[in-house]
Amino acid sequence: MNKIKVLVTAGPTIEMIDPVRYISNFSSGKQGYHIAENFMQKGCDVTLVSGPVNLKCSDGIKLIKVKSAKQMLKECLNHLPSDIMIACAAVCDWKPATQLDSKLKKTEGQEKLTLEFEKNPDILHNIGHHKNSRPKVVIGFAAETNDLIENAQKKLLKKNCDAIFANDVSGSGVFGKDQTRLHLITKDLVEDCGNQSKEESASLVADKAISFLTK
Ligand code: C5P
Repeated sequence: MNKIKVLVTAGPTIEMIDPVRYISNFSSGKQGYHIAENFMQKGCDVTLVSGPVNLKCSDGIKLIKVKSAKQMLKECLNHLPSDIMIACAAVCDWKPATQLDSKLKKTEGQEKLTLEFEKNPDILHNIGHHKNSRPKVVIGFAAETNDLIENAQKKLLKKNCDAIFANDVSGSGVFGKDQTRLHLITKDLVEDCGNQSKEESASLVADKAISFLTK
């Protein structure tokens, strides 16, 4: 039997301002790496497209390292068809409209700096709506500080996902932590998965995705 092909995105993206500066976020990549690892342990053929993180990845996983959202999208599209896609990356919504070739300088008397940003591609939206090669199961994540369930339900529809795992990142947050509390949201249900380690929740995500595939 052919192995189940799984595509996972993880970590932050970084968007260059000039050759030495960028904007990004605090995503550690832990959740996505645990998910990739768990699918591999379950016998799947896993490709992990990862932004810059400080994590080790098993040899059994095909690791593709990227920096920007644009590169992440390109690599994801290059790795279709896939049976399952799990979008765990904290992709920067915005990137500087122009990337300077040389270091941005301060000028005499300057007190403010204005940068213009343009929208990055939405990777999950692209894959969820892919005309010819949409994976049978597409799952996204939603980190929310308010209206957790409502916002995740909107994302589910907008990005054409089979499920969203929603995370409340208000308060102490989950970025960089080992613990998480996911809510599984599909068209028919909302399920509080309770407090878990990111390793345990990775196993849950993989089990759910595989069960959707065989439904
Ligand atoms: O819209 P928001 O960023 O909250 O959506 C979160 C989900 O969408 C996550 O699964 C994330 O990986 C994915 N996403 C993406 N590309 C973007 C923004 C978000 O794949 N540009």
